[in-house]
Amino acid sequence: MDSQLQDYDPINGLKPSENCAVIGIYGNEPVFLKIYTALRTLQHRGQEASGVAIFDGNKINALKVDGLVYEGFRPFIEKDSVPKGSIGIGHNRYSTAGMKNITGAGPFLIYTAMGDMAISHNGEITNYESIRDDLKEKGVPFITKTDTEVMLNLIARYIRQRGIKAGIRQAMETLQGSYSAVLMVQDRMYAIRDPMGFRPLVMGRVGNDIIISSESSAIDVLGGEVIRDVQPGEVLEVYNGDVNTLFTVRAHRISHCMFEYVYFARPDSVIDGIEVYNSRYNLGVNLARESPVEADVVIPVPDSGRTQALSYARELKMEYSEGLFKNRYSERTFIMPGDKERDTAVKLKLNPIKSVVQGKRIVLVDDSIVRGTTMRRIVTLLRNFGAKEIHVRIASPKIIAPCYFGVDMKTRDQFVALNRSDEEVSKEVGADSLAYLSIDGLIRSIGLQKKSLCLGCLTGEYPIKVNGEKEDVQTTLEF
Ligand code: SF4
Repeated sequence: MDSQLQDYDPINGLKPSENCAVIGIYGNEPVFLKIYTALRTLQHRGQEASGVAIFDGNKINALKVDGLVYEGFRPFIEKDSVPKGSIGIGHNRYSTAGMKNITGAGPFLIYTAMGDMAISHNGEITNYESIRDDLKEKGVPFITKTDTEVMLNLIARYIRQRGIKAGIRQAMETLQGSYSAVLMVQDRMYAIRDPMGFRPLVMGRVGNDIIISSESSAIDVLGGEVIRDVQPGEVLEVYNGDVNTLFTVRAHRISHCMFEYVYFARPDSVIDGIEVYNSRYNLGVNLARESPVEADVVIPVPDSGRTQALSYARELKMEYSEGLFKNRYSERTFIMPGDKERDTAVKLKLNPIKSVVQGKRIVLVDDSIVRGTTMRRIVTLLRNFGAKEIHVRIASPKIIAPCYFGVDMKTRDQFVALNRSDEEVSKEVGADSLAYLSIDGLIRSIGLQKKSLCLGCLTGEYPIKVNGEKEDVQTTLEF
């Protein structure tokens, strides 16, 4: 893709990006607006495109739009030309595999002899190319290059051969990687979570409706009640208002993505029994214990470092201040060709508050650093406003390796921390000092056991086999 045209957010665009939110609602009354509200709640998980697919009593109809949920769907809501029906799924897309336009957006819909099937998927299927080649040889046509289209066609093929239960199970034996998905087969709905549980998936009730969601916050916003997480490897069937576990595929270990707690998920979500806000608060506390520094004020990089900066300051009994104003109306822009334009883009989004910054020794807290370019610009900005010292504290460990499970960090050369000491990274971003949280500190902060977490991008050792990479443990699935 032409890098000049790539979407770029001056603050968050250079952070790792999540790929997608999924929603499924099985109700008794028109469901579009509920799915729309849930997708708006989960907008942070993908801003490229959104889609909704709804069963109208006879067939499944889909509507996909570019850009933000509110902007994309509004004209259709105003004209009352949205899909009708009481059972539906939704999707927000950030692409990590395949195309970056509306054609690659979910939900994917196919018409089969067993009825219409639609799927919303969050994650990344690591072996989708070989499955696609195999299916192509068998005559299955593909419209996109996405892993989700491959997943849906594989499931459809196995369902046709073996029925729904055995078909989904067979597909899960074939699929590798991460997937939290909601599948519709006509008026039946299925929640499917991969056996390692990389990405979150939760179930709840809103009145008489059953809701499946990437995050619990969407259920809260709809005024519902969270029932429980869909367990790793579990397949739930929702039909006629009932929810039942169809089967569970067990792996020898769980592998929840640590980045959900560090950055991706909303702080008001509870994922696999852990409140994200609480984890983020602990990240700041442990960072303070591991890397205190004498300074006048602690300021966050908004919004990603806010909770961690607050707890860092509280733990060390230091002053906490909002030293950077974030312009919430600054739109996503394109990558600017020159340094000057890029600096302007950062300033448009962030501006220092002079009285907080001038003449001060500052601790600048953020959740993570990938490339270091944004941090360098923020440090420069603070220096230009008269900061005396800038000590960068990062509330997660160094990212040194790619992600293969649904996060947009694909190449090693982008990581500023790879083969650099903390001092070298500090110099690179222009700070007076820089420190990361340790991996032990991260694990303590999240509150899950090490063996339940994926730490692949921090250690370079992955929970499942990835070509050319080290595996952290031998993992076998039990079917
Ligand atoms: S490699 Fe990193 S970003 Fe990817 S799933 Fe594992 S912890 Fe998450």
